[in-house]
Amino acid sequence: MTIQSSKPQDDQNKDSKSLYFDRPALDVSVAFPQATPASIFPPCTSDYYQFADLLTPEEQALRLKVRECVERDVAPIMTKYWEKAGFPFEIVPKLGALNIAGGTIKDYGCPGLSVTASALATAELARVDASCSTFILVHSSLAMLTISLCGSEIQKQKYFPSLAKLDTIACWGLTEPDYGSDASGLRTTATKVEGGWVIEGQKRWIGNSTFADVLVIFARNKDTNQINGFIVKKNAPGLPR
Ligand SMILES: Cc1cc2nc3c(=O)[nH]c(=O)nc-3n(C[C@H](O)[C@H](O)[C@H](O)COP(=O)(O)OP(=O)(O)OC[C@H]3O[C@@H](n4cnc5c(N)ncnc54)[C@H](O)[C@@H]3O)c2cc1C
Repeated sequence: MTIQSSKPQDDQNKDSKSLYFDRPALDVSVAFPQATPASIFPPCTSDYYQFADLLTPEEQALRLKVRECVERDVAPIMTKYWEKAGFPFEIVPKLGALNIAGGTIKDYGCPGLSVTASALATAELARVDASCSTFILVHSSLAMLTISLCGSEIQKQKYFPSLAKLDTIACWGLTEPDYGSDASGLRTTATKVEGGWVIEGQKRWIGNSTFADVLVIFARNKDTNQINGFIVKKNAPGLPR
């Protein structure tokens, strides 16, 4: 059945959107009394494939430590941050104390975890809140690992100790408005000047970028036409955020 309306489709969409946003927040406990409140996280009670038996005692202990922390410190507060689209800075010191940032990187204050332990820690974060695990992944597996693989000894000594404690936060900027999967076509340029580099371009979708202290930015070196990674500090002149 088709219902004819005298209003154009755009106006109807605007009306229905404002109606939705004008309503008070849904009281989930009333609307869905059977739902588990986010603050009472469902316990991990089953291990059908006896996965835990495959882990070393250290890996099991780390998994438990991360699980306890995120159930206690992250689960009860995340709904509030989701509702106001904010980042929970209050949990950063707690995640730092877990000693998981830097993952598999050894030395310079990094935890030197096994690949399995590092993945387990991320999985435990993601179990409670996917955004928190993205925060750590971007910081640790994108930015820190890039410095570990491609950075100089001086850069590792300078940046890793505080990044590993989450006293400073890193981001990793590859994607651009016009280049995503095809990142090798990126347009951001790096020009060597006396005393440093001038980087010009735009980035998009960069996790942690609005508050990162250390930004790993990929740009095309104008002299060599190669794509290079640059460590940019948060107060670099001309860096808009
Ligand atoms: C939550 C989130 C966090 C992110 N964080 C970061 C970050 O910290 N740093 C960063 O640099 N980037 C980040 N990104 C960007 C992400 O890496 C890009 O979204 C990704 O590279 C894809 O690029 P795109 O969105 O431009 O999609 P496109 O490249 O336009 O791709 C669109 C679709 O086309 C498909 N496609 C592309 N090329 C081909 C091909 N040749 N053949 C067949 N199919 C193809 C893709 O699989 C995809 O399904 C983030 C993105 C998200 C969503």
